[in-house]
Amino acid sequence: MIKIFHLAGRYAPVVVCDICSKRIERAEQGVAISPVPSTDTGVLNLDDLATLSEIGDPEEFEVFHVHKDQCTTLLEQRLQHTAHGSYGLDEHLYYIAGNLGLTLNDLRRVEDDPE
Ligand SMILES: [Zn+2]
Repeated sequence: MIKIFHLAGRYAPVVVCDICSKRIERAEQGVAISPVPSTDTGVLNLDDLATLSEIGDPEEFEVFHVHKDQCTTLLEQRLQHTAHGSYGLDEHLYYIAGNLGLTLNDLRRVEDDPE
């Protein structure tokens, strides 16, 4: 899950593991897992479509952010009767940014001029 840490009068948005509740410090340490239909393949950037009507109304699924290895194993045990897919946090966050309409230039502007 995404949370906000407050330290020394400043705020830090972070990704926290849905299993152990500890911060996932580096993208390569985590994965995003969703109980989605097992027949699906690939991730969709909504901007690639002219309109959402081309594919109809989307189904919605919860997404879990977890550490690789032990926390992933524990979550998969909980989801054992549900088909699910997973991919790296780097790819997951890339698509979230894209589906919010953010470009690399937008992200660079935030980096150059943080609030
Ligand atoms: Zn964890």
